[in-house]
Amino acid sequence: MSNVSAAPDLDFWEFVNCGICHLEFVKENGTLSTVPFWLTECGHVVCNSHINPDHSCSECGGQGVQLMPLARELEPPMSQWFASAPTAFDAVGYALRFQMNMMANLLRYFRKKYIQYRPLYDRLKEEHAETKRLKKLVDELKLENQQLRQHLHINNGDERTLHSNKRRRVDEDVSYAGHRTSSPRSTASVPTPHGPDRLTLPPGHHPPHFNSRQSIQSYESAGSQQSIA
Ligand SMILES: [Zn+2]
Ligand SMILES: [Zn+2]
Repeated sequence: MSNVSAAPDLDFWEFVNCGICHLEFVKENGTLSTVPFWLTECGHVVCNSHINPDHSCSECGGQGVQLMPLARELEPPMSQWFASAPTAFDAVGYALRFQMNMMANLLRYFRKKYIQYRPLYDRLKEEHAETKRLKKLVDELKLENQQLRQHLHINNGDERTLHSNKRRRVDEDVSYAGHRTSSPRSTASVPTPHGPDRLTLPPGHHPPHFNSRQSIQSYESAGSQQSIA
């Protein structure tokens, strides 16, 4: 069952060779080839004997490709091309574990906060709905209040006009009585007192002179007499 021996770690450098003559970059004894090797921009490996002087790739024919000397220590991303794939997967696995742990940690933190604040959130939601309802009510009441104020203002205006009209009529009647105006205006509410020119005077008698105070008194006495009668 589990008596299968684990495969030895694979070193990809063991298989790196010239794409044209298949000369190995790492010799059987583990030392590097004495012939320089080149890595092309297009991702091919060629030995020094098979580079083209016109800067084309001898393996794929790509034109104007750049070359860099091949070495066991390379800069990324080229270093990744030569890394052992299983080891690379281990690294990827480690990176995955590292990143997921951090995200899970953050997720747990926010989940805890969510559970902690959920009741508060529900309460705030209810209060927000209530606030909205009250705001609507306030708006309605404001409108109603405004309409009532307008209504009241119109009524007050009518009353004031009515009062001033009444006052004017009384003043006119009084002045009419005092100055014996020849063209009296008829008033419905206040009875017109008899003016002096209605008196029948004997020949040679002049009508008596009324000043304004007397005229008011005579007007008032005439009114009171009338109300008694
Ligand atoms: Zn070669
Ligand atoms: Zn190429």
